[in-house]
Amino acid sequence: MIVLKFGGSSVADAACMRQVAKLAEAALPKAPLVVLSAMGKTTNGLFDAAKAAEAGDLAEAMSRQRALMAAHRKAAEELFDGVVPESLDVALTDLFGELELLLRGVAMLRELSARSMDAIASLGERLSTRIFAAFVGGAWVDARTVLRTNEVFGEAVPQQAAIRPLAEMHLKSQVGPGRVVVTQGYIGATEDGLTTTLGRGGSDYSAALFGAALDAEEVQIWTDVEGVLTCDPRIVPDALPIPDLSFAEAAELAAFGAKVLHPATIQPAVEARIPVTVRHTQKPEGRFTTISAEVRSGGPITALASRGPVTVLTVSSTRMLAQSGFLARLFEVFGRRGVSVDLVATAEVSVSLTVEADVPLKPLLQDLSAFATVEIHEGRAIIAAVGERLKSTPGLGAKLLTALGDINVEMISMGANEINLSLVVQEERTAEALRRLHQVLVGTPS
Ligand code: ASP
Ligand code: MG
Repeated sequence: MIVLKFGGSSVADAACMRQVAKLAEAALPKAPLVVLSAMGKTTNGLFDAAKAAEAGDLAEAMSRQRALMAAHRKAAEELFDGVVPESLDVALTDLFGELELLLRGVAMLRELSARSMDAIASLGERLSTRIFAAFVGGAWVDARTVLRTNEVFGEAVPQQAAIRPLAEMHLKSQVGPGRVVVTQGYIGATEDGLTTTLGRGGSDYSAALFGAALDAEEVQIWTDVEGVLTCDPRIVPDALPIPDLSFAEAAELAAFGAKVLHPATIQPAVEARIPVTVRHTQKPEGRFTTISAEVRSGGPITALASRGPVTVLTVSSTRMLAQSGFLARLFEVFGRRGVSVDLVATAEVSVSLTVEADVPLKPLLQDLSAFATVEIHEGRAIIAAVGERLKSTPGLGAKLLTALGDINVEMISMGANEINLSLVVQEERTAEALRRLHQVLVGTPS
């Protein structure tokens, strides 16, 4: 079987849902389990309604509830050409009745616990899947019967050992070639049956969990990009989808804020050796990225990412010469002040490190001045060249620096896992640096 997960933008309205239905139908021979997010920005709408209720503004909460209801009914009517089947109509009425009750309760108590919020937030996925399942004539499965979590509402942790037998019981018999089974992303339930959510954007995580529990052949994450790109396309218009990405590479890119799915969320699938593909809902025949545990990518550098602004601190001490314990003392200060250090490069009498631009420097400098002098360089950016083959490619450093030409590199650091080579440059030169590196080093994977 395969899992197909569609995000909010893929099911934003009736036209989008028709496209998703086509893709689900095309996957019929492969026994598809379709995992859906809430339609468009519905989850945000539910949060806003709940917040309004908590503030005691019931009128506002109800008006948001009605707006959500109108959008869902409109989608259903468009899908069914004005004749919504009675069972769907009843289901929608029930779900919106439930939402209204919850919002009234919150407004009355002016109290919104994480537990109540989860109950409210769960409605987005429960609504989208009801409409879609009715439209494709598929089986609708309540994810809460399978996706067992702990009781940390709002950020619940899935219990994989429990999920497997539950999937066996409630999902496995439903899934098969020739039928579409539809369930919700993002939501789960505790052992006592209380509704939980996995945290915002949690549907990818759900898809990976369902895939792992059902030994899927593949987990497909359908979204609005053709996979994970070699660089941010707003900066490098030539950026292309990466055909094969290792899990470690995906993790590095995500740490640099690349708009990839969060690797932690696909871990259950990757651990189970199930490939995860990222695909474009509107361009199903187009390119896509396969993320897997193995390394399959070709070039030395798979992708480029950047992060800025950051501040470079160069800490010097003549006393550091031939001394042990200096680094311990240095990092103790950062630890005590709760400042996280990103890159580090050391020379004999100085250490350069980067910190986020917004950390309060004053207390840090005060402590450091007891045993060192500090130079501060603000307005810098980190560029990361990420690739599994980085470490085994001779001459890459020279190529990299040559490609950068007149852009000065102020710091170089190779990540501990050696698949990330980081460079620090002036922030205003970041875009140019990325374009130059991309042209020479990333080239055109296909
Ligand atoms: N609907 C949820 C959210 O918007 C979960 C998801 O889309 O993945 O956060
Ligand atoms: Mg979403």
